[in-house]
This record gives sequence, structure tokens and C-alpha cells, in this order.
Amino acid sequence: MDRNQQLFDRARRVIPGGVNSPVRAFRAVGGTPRFVQRAEGAYFWDAEGRRHIDYIGSWGPMILGHGHPAVLEAVQRAARDGFSFGAPTEREIELAEAICAAMPNLEMVRLVSSGTEAAMSALRLARGATGRNKLVKFEGCYHGHADALLVKAGSGLATFGHPTSAGVPADVVKDTIVLEYNNAAQLEEAFTQHGHDIAALVIEPIAGNMNFVRAGTAFMKLARDLCTRHGAMLVFDEVMTGFRVGFDGAQAHYAKLIPGFRPDLTVLGKVIGGGMPLAAFGGPRATMEQLAPLGPVYQAGTLSGNPVATACGLATLKEIAKPGFYESLAARTRSLMDGLAGAANAAGVPFTADSEGGMFGFFLLPQLPRNYGEVMKTDGAKFNALFHGLLDRGVYIAPALYEAGFVSAAHSEQDIAETVAAAAEIFKTLA
Ligand code: PMP
Repeated sequence: MDRNQQLFDRARRVIPGGVNSPVRAFRAVGGTPRFVQRAEGAYFWDAEGRRHIDYIGSWGPMILGHGHPAVLEAVQRAARDGFSFGAPTEREIELAEAICAAMPNLEMVRLVSSGTEAAMSALRLARGATGRNKLVKFEGCYHGHADALLVKAGSGLATFGHPTSAGVPADVVKDTIVLEYNNAAQLEEAFTQHGHDIAALVIEPIAGNMNFVRAGTAFMKLARDLCTRHGAMLVFDEVMTGFRVGFDGAQAHYAKLIPGFRPDLTVLGKVIGGGMPLAAFGGPRATMEQLAPLGPVYQAGTLSGNPVATACGLATLKEIAKPGFYESLAARTRSLMDGLAGAANAAGVPFTADSEGGMFGFFLLPQLPRNYGEVMKTDGAKFNALFHGLLDRGVYIAPALYEAGFVSAAHSEQDIAETVAAAAEIFKTLA
């Protein structure tokens, strides 16, 4: 029997669904998840020893590819000095300084271990700092699995949401307002009705959890203006986009489009840990000093600022800060999208794609979607055929049509060409 299948069967006896995070289980696309044996550069090898070109890269962190020599060395050196102390270290300062230097809207950061923790803590801080309760979020944006954020849109305009998970009491999400992404009328109405009680509007500026969907410039400006006018905090969840779409994140991208633009708080993860459990949230000093031990908003973590994780993150940031890094990453990513679009067009398959830096999304749709509902109009059967066709040919993309993809600095022109050739064969069967 296929060794991936053997491992999956064994895993399912002791781990719910055989996986430690649901999307790994291939529930949307069917089939057997690939168990990774090892990875290097742009590739991983599964339990059968088969090589795959990896366009997930641990869902974003592996921007340098797997096992970058400088990062590996930094991690090994750090591990020799100790795994965890529960006492402060110099590397935490260095990483905080590096993040604040890259992102001028962050004067201070607090390091944590996951994006979930970072988003949850940022929103607690926003609620604590404003003394308000309500949160605005958007359908299709994911900010981790904190209770108040596991919520789907209610029926009707600007209504409060319903829990999307069992175990989340309706009471816990009663202050979470869920709106359609890029829908200006809904956003205005929500602030008209509840503006005085909204603590924060949290948004993925370029959403990567409904595939890849950009917030429009006018929409983002409106979000900023409404937050300013009503005294709410604009919280940018850049767990995925931070150091991925560019060295200074999606906020720098929007600052180029909207003069003077800045978020109030920023949530980071993924790339800043280089593949180790590390995330952060940050903002202006006056807000961040509301956190314990200085202020009344409690937040803590046994492994926060972990010495091995900070070494990994710092070594990663050092590499990606080199001149030309993002230009070449973005060009490679665009060439993948252009190649796929060309192959799809030649086969007569509806296709559209977008990318920023090393993050991409493509759709089996004639036009780029603007919100979750439009993304979900994708023909699921066709996507699954594409996914499995690519997998059989050694190309690993996200096993769900509502996930973005990632190119790393380790992906070569040859990898891109192989990927496009594989896709071209499958597109011919999908037309
Ligand atoms: N925010 C965003 C935008 C994310 O993409 C994710 C994870 N994909 C999270 C938060 C949660 O991060 P983590 O999985 O590290 O808890």
C-alpha cells in the first residue's frame, strides 16, 4: 500500500482526522494527504519519496524555500544555546527592532507564538484601549480561531453574526459584525448604526483566506476614514501579507495608493518566524503600553519570543532585506501566473490570476472575484481535477480553491516551466 495512505490510516487512529490542522486533510479535494519526509529549496519529498514542487511553503512562512543554509545555521546555533528560558533574551530585542525598522507604523511589538494568538491579543488590546466591545470583520477573512472571530455573516445588512464552530456561544460573537469584503454600503451602514461602540475593524488587506482578493483602494480609504471618524482602530491582519507581498507589508502598498494611509495595529506571523512558531502584533507606543505589565490589558506566553524561533525569524529577515529580493520574487510569481493564464487560455478554460510579491491567487473564473461569494462561484469539480492532476505530476498547490499560494526565492524558472507544462496538460482535459 502507498506509504502516505498507511501513515494517514495510522494518524487517524490517534489524531482527529489524521491531521493537526484541518485543511491538511484534503477534505475539500478528496484523496490522501501527502506526508512530508523532508524538504529542501522549492521541493518536499513525500512518504513514498516522490518529489513535489511546493507552492504552499507551510502556508506562507517559507519565503526563502526550505532549509536555507544561513537560516539553518542560525537555528542550529541557537538550539545549542538553549530551547527556551522563560526569561528575556537579546534576540527578542533584535527581532522587535528589525520588525519596527521595516514597518514604520510599528513603534513596539509583542512577540507571540501563532497568528491566532497575535490577532486575538491585538483585538483584546483594541477593546481595552478604546473601552468598546464591537468588532467589524469581513466574510472570507481569517484571523485565527479565537472564539469571537469564528463567525459568519448574519442575514441582512450589518447584522451580527452566527458562530461558525460548535463550542462558540452565540453570546461570545454577539459583538462581532460580519460584512461583505469590498462592500462600501455595508461598511458605512455598520458604522452609522454602531460606530460609537466599534473598538476595531480587522481586515486582511490582501485577503489570502478566500484565495487571493485585494481590498479596493476606495474601500480601504473608506475603512480608514470611518475608523478615524468614529474612534475605532483599524487592525491590519498581515499574518500572511507581512514580509510576503513586500518587505514593508500590504500597509506600504496601500500607503502608496492612499496618501497618509496607516493602520492603527498590525498583526504579523508566518514569514517573521521563517517556519518556526512565531508571530507578533504591534502599533504605536501609547497603545502598546496598555499591555501588561505596563497597562491593564493582559497577554502572556510561556514560549513567546522563543530563542530558537527568534533566531530563525531574524536570519530570514536578514536574507529577505537584501536589495532586489522582492523584485525578483514578484517577477517569478508573475511569470507563474502568466504561464498558467496562457495555458488556460490556449485550452479555452476560464482563468484569471493576481499576485503581489510572492503571494498569488488564480481562479477558474472569467473575472477576478471581489469577495467570498464570488470566489465560491468557482467550479469545485474543475478545481479538484486541476489539483489532483498537478499533484500526480509532482506539483503541490493548496488543497482547496479558497486558499492563496506562495512562491519562494528557491523556485527556479525551470520549476515554473515544469508547473506550467503540467497545468497545460490538465487544462486540455478541463475545457
Ligand atoms: N491571520 C491570517 C491572515 C492567517 O492567514 C492566519 C493563518 N493562515 C492566521 C491569522 C492564524 O495564524 P496561525 O495559523 O499561526 O494561528
